[in-house]
Amino acid sequence: MNRSRIADLGTVLTIWAHPDDETYLAGGLMAAAVAAGQRVVCVSATAGELGTDDPVAWPPERLAAVRRLEAAAALAVLGVQEHRFLGLPDGGLDLWDDVGARLVSELIDEIRPDTVVTFGPDGFTFHPDHLAVHRWVRAAWEARGRGFRLLETAWTAESLERFGALSARIGVFMTDERPVGVPAAALSEHLPLAGPALDRKVTALRAMASQVEPTVGAFGLDLFTAWVAEEGFVDAARTARTRGTARTGRTARAARAGRAGRAGRAARAVGVPVDAEFGSIPAQRSEMVAA
Ligand SMILES: [Zn+2]
Repeated sequence: MNRSRIADLGTVLTIWAHPDDETYLAGGLMAAAVAAGQRVVCVSATAGELGTDDPVAWPPERLAAVRRLEAAAALAVLGVQEHRFLGLPDGGLDLWDDVGARLVSELIDEIRPDTVVTFGPDGFTFHPDHLAVHRWVRAAWEARGRGFRLLETAWTAESLERFGALSARIGVFMTDERPVGVPAAALSEHLPLAGPALDRKVTALRAMASQVEPTVGAFGLDLFTAWVAEEGFVDAARTARTRGTARTGRTARAARAGRAGRAGRAARAVGVPVDAEFGSIPAQRSEMVAA
């Protein structure tokens, strides 16, 4: 994405489910827009308070506090100065469709973005919380006559080819479904990050140690860096055919019911201490995180 395409994004509002989604999926985009002098507002629906496989050491209240601090650090690295939390419960967003959709709608009316960035129809990982946020943003976009640009995250076909199996093995995908990759040349916006921009994104991610360090440890830094080096987005106007095409809450709930066991089994199968989408705190890291 060159400078003029970044400038064309105008005021950018990015909306996600959990702290770390924003940095994994759009850290490079947000940093570039900030560097170009644009207003960037980042929203997390939850504090990610369930993102651990050791809820005894990390009860939700304690983990929420850590994840808020980590998100502040990551966004400081990216240069994003405005971060909002909607305060909704991690792991249950599909039960909060009415409230979530209203809060998203109010934010859009307040910030009046030129471009909104969020998850695509696959939620990137099929996480039911991601799918809920996708629905809310799509609904707000339709309700405003598609009056702002809506960019949705997408796996590139190339990235899926290279990293899909690895991602599946560590439990990134929350259901048995798999994304359909978009060839890089067919993306609406493509950021293949390298050099200082990639270093910045990796530094931001590693500021969220409770989520990211187990994954860095399992992959090694070089592979982790390659895994996060690409960001891809598709204009919703290209994929939204009719109103109401997003998945239903019922489908999302069914997916949620099945995800924990599968993801946990996958993580155990490869001995990787990860079981919640991009990663989580394994017990042995808890003291490091608390220090
Ligand atoms: Zn997430």
